[in-house]
Amino acid sequence: MQLFQDFKLNKQLLNAIAEMGYTTPTAIQEKAIPAILGGQDVMGIAQTGTGKTAAYLLPLLRILNYPQGDDPRALILVPTRELSIQVGKTIEDLGKYTGLRHAVVFGGSGAKDQIADIKKGIDILVASPGRFLDLYLEGHINSRKIKHFVMDEAERLMDKSFMNQFHRILEIVPQKRQNLLFSATMSDLVKKISGDFLDFPIEIHITPEVRTAETVSQEYYKVPNMRTKLNLLEHFLAEEEFTKTIIFCKTKVIASNIGKYLERVYGVDEVRIIHGNKTQQTRINAMEAFRNDPIRILVCTDVAARGLDIVDVSHVINFDTPIIYEDYVHRIGRTGRAFKTGKSITFVTPADEYHLKKISRLIKQTIPESIFPEGVRRVPTEYDEKQDMAREMDRQKHLDDPNFKGAFHEKKEAAKILAIKNAKALKDSKTESSNSKRNRSKNPGDSSKFGKARRGK
Ligand code: AMP
Repeated sequence: MQLFQDFKLNKQLLNAIAEMGYTTPTAIQEKAIPAILGGQDVMGIAQTGTGKTAAYLLPLLRILNYPQGDDPRALILVPTRELSIQVGKTIEDLGKYTGLRHAVVFGGSGAKDQIADIKKGIDILVASPGRFLDLYLEGHINSRKIKHFVMDEAERLMDKSFMNQFHRILEIVPQKRQNLLFSATMSDLVKKISGDFLDFPIEIHITPEVRTAETVSQEYYKVPNMRTKLNLLEHFLAEEEFTKTIIFCKTKVIASNIGKYLERVYGVDEVRIIHGNKTQQTRINAMEAFRNDPIRILVCTDVAARGLDIVDVSHVINFDTPIIYEDYVHRIGRTGRAFKTGKSITFVTPADEYHLKKISRLIKQTIPESIFPEGVRRVPTEYDEKQDMAREMDRQKHLDDPNFKGAFHEKKEAAKILAIKNAKALKDSKTESSNSKRNRSKNPGDSSKFGKARRGK
């Protein structure tokens, strides 16, 4: 396994990488970073989600090194406003200790602020082709220093007007430069452009993660709430076949709580937790420990798990149904690797059923439901959790139908009236029962499973 430290990146970048929570380079990063650092032209056929942005930004930031002059030395052409913002944000995150400056210019919004950003002096310009040409023709951009030219998501740049713009841009930028082209697909137009554009490029093809690998069996369980999820999780982890299990949670807090809970149940020798707040070294250590016995349970978030390649994972448990649907594919792709078979289990609350449908649509498969096992205790759903789910389900209905006003609001109204009634009843009753109730509330029973007593191994 390669590490970011193996590339000729500097401390400023390595620190930013660690803060971003990247543990290991993705496949495209492994190949593209050394090639770009070596000054070569690169054609990367890779989709979003493969880590392609950092694959070209990291070496570029390294080469540009520190702020110099006022005019851009790297030009990154992008097709959409969203991508331009995203690339700008990644430059900010990865370049935060380099001092390198950038501007993002895109059509469809006013040019005034964008021009002001350029005038401040920049090293990198992220631009849509049309806006780049407009600003160039108006004299706001000096292109003479551009030494690195990137086309990101090139396949989406290829509309009719683009070829024209593209050839005009090629006339504007200096001939001696490094060219990098990234495209999700290898269409005829992309081939043509790369022929016009790239000089003996290194070609990198990253096949998208196999859509829900055939070696992974999938199932889901309907689970009413968080505490019942914990009961179900314990039920599975007690089974022998769960030899190496990764548990995915949606937030760092949940991952941390579940991890600590499992540590109490199974002992610290069997469990590791990785999420964005852990240092890179801690994460690498956790990964190594998981790879080698006796750690058999790894609790993590999606960010922390990107790019991990661990063979022999027997089970992936989606403790939380992923709400970024591509993450489902990434998650379950952690098992069933290298021709081994694996199993993925997803816990689905009533509020997650909507997401499950979307996931099925994405992967073009129906994930079979399994019967909730007998003997696993179903715990009643607490009020706050119920409210959160109702709110989420309203949000989903609103997404599908923007006119939907939401039953939750009605429920909320009813709950408010009930609360007022209860408060009044409480005030009215000056009996002992209210006192004893108050006393009891000073010594509440165990309402949180996270706080439950230790259980040995
Ligand atoms: P991209 O393919 O560039 O759109 O990146 C997809 C996502 O992967 C982004 O959220 C990146 O922050 C993240 N990412 C990129 N490289 C890594 C890495 N080496 N480890 C973990 N996450 C990464």
